[in-house]
Amino acid sequence: MTIVPDTKDWTWVLERPCPECGFDTSGFPVEAVPGMILANAAAWPQVLAGPGNPGARTRPEPGKWSPLEYGCHVRDVFLRFDQRLELMLSQDDPLFPNWDQDATAVQDRYGEQDPAEVTAQLRRAALAIAGRFESVTGGQWQRTGSRSDGARFTVETFARYLMHDPVHHLYDVTGRRAVAT
Ligand SMILES: [Zn+2]
Repeated sequence: MTIVPDTKDWTWVLERPCPECGFDTSGFPVEAVPGMILANAAAWPQVLAGPGNPGARTRPEPGKWSPLEYGCHVRDVFLRFDQRLELMLSQDDPLFPNWDQDATAVQDRYGEQDPAEVTAQLRRAALAIAGRFESVTGGQWQRTGSRSDGARFTVETFARYLMHDPVHHLYDVTGRRAVAT
């Protein structure tokens, strides 16, 4: 069975806490984002390749991604958002190239990738984007960019929006809701 494409516009997470995972995108100073990215990334090795989880490739139900597929997605979110962040910091009000997340999952055969490699790639991608956020200072947080569907972001709202994604997917895999920071 295939996964139903996620067509929801998730920008509402900037307005209110997520009722599913419990994460509140307004509940932390934006300067905390690099550390939060690294903390999230540190949880994935256990999920993807830990001795307690031989079922990384197993979908818990037919319409829901396996931990491995979620890990691939989070890795690619970090990679893709790092490119977008670089655009926002180097160009004035860029338009982000479109990214079809569900098509990527199918084309790149997420479910057939090697969990150990995905673990390493996710960590590298997290380090890269955390490092770029670490470099953001002062007025750079208010630089702007737009998604192809018209959603507009500042670097700050982009950071808060991004942060929900890996947190929510860790919840998808572990069932543990985000705790208040
Ligand atoms: Zn959520």
